[in-house]
Amino acid sequence: MGRFDGGNGGRGFGGGNRGGGGFRFNMGPREMHKAVCSDCKKECEVPFKPTEGKPVYCKDCYPKHKKF
Ligand SMILES: [Zn+2]
Repeated sequence: MGRFDGGNGGRGFGGGNRGGGGFRFNMGPREMHKAVCSDCKKECEVPFKPTEGKPVYCKDCYPKHKKF
């Protein structure tokens, strides 16, 4: 088994581990960040902090640009 890697290319949350619980998908408050999709230019919200200079894709376009 490999490790879990979302291919996000470095998470810029500046914290590493948050320590604690197993609530990743259950009830953790999920911050959404407004962004403009680099592909369709649609305004969207992403569950991660958009990095300046990096393209952000909406959920429709993201799979198209996701590379393994
Ligand atoms: Zn898009």
